[in-house]
Amino acid sequence: MTAKLHGTVALITGASSGIGEATAKILAAQGAAVAIVARRKDRLEQLAEEITASGGKALVIEADITDQKQAEQAVTRTVEQYGRLDTVVNNAGVMLLGPASEAPLEEWERMVSINVNGLLYVSHAALPHLVRSASISERKVTDLINISSVAGRKTMAGGAVYNLTKFGVAAFTDALRQEVAGQSVRVSAVEPGAVKTELSSHLRDEVREQSMKSFSDIELLEAQDIAEAIEYIVTRPRHVAVNEVLIRPTDQV
Ligand code: NDP
Repeated sequence: MTAKLHGTVALITGASSGIGEATAKILAAQGAAVAIVARRKDRLEQLAEEITASGGKALVIEADITDQKQAEQAVTRTVEQYGRLDTVVNNAGVMLLGPASEAPLEEWERMVSINVNGLLYVSHAALPHLVRSASISERKVTDLINISSVAGRKTMAGGAVYNLTKFGVAAFTDALRQEVAGQSVRVSAVEPGAVKTELSSHLRDEVREQSMKSFSDIELLEAQDIAEAIEYIVTRPRHVAVNEVLIRPTDQV
């Protein structure tokens, strides 16, 4: 199989676990040099070793993307190291569910600062590079992919602020798509249903059981399932833009 992303560079936020980790592996296997961004450096180093051992290229960037400077530097370091930027996957996120009336305000602030502000900081820093790389690239196109959620399409009790952030990501994605399409930058939203990752580990004990009840009997998606959708989006030829992908486990309604 030819590596379809050979010579390209991808930056993936939240690459230390779950969907981000699986995405980094799959894009690296397609020949992209990957900049892997998160706070847990040990996990990133382990992933970089794995990618390198399989013949890929990986740059570890320890960063908290809720800090605008660190988000910007993550993009700058990637471009300094590899000279260009073809793909950005805005994946880092948290889901802190629970009744709004009892929620610690700190949880709402965390969701807004990671799911929204962090995504905006990375996008803002990356866009000029994506535009430039689209104009010089052999593929003649670059990609910005935002990980939203089923919660970006459908509201649920206990998810008011998570819904707010993911509906916001969907709106930002589609408006930006229209703006930069003319510069050959594709902007896509990926909206996963329930995926087996560490995401629910951050829930308070008293809300975890209640929130996850409806998923206890169903076969969840694997992170790899979402990574394959991302791989599909970025390996399309220039004239094909996959604007939005909603993927649920078959048994999730
Ligand atoms: P994980 O908890 O496994 O991954 C979340 C990633 O985000 C981690 O790598 C974490 O790294 C990173 N992250 C969190 N905060 C920050 C920060 N401040 N700066 C940098 N990185 C950060 O969960 P998933 O893989 O499931 O989540 C990935 C995305 O998918 C999220 O946006 C989530 O909302 C979305 N999603 C997930 C679904 C699911 O069912 N799992 C369903 C729908 C959407 P670290 O802690 O090392 O910084």
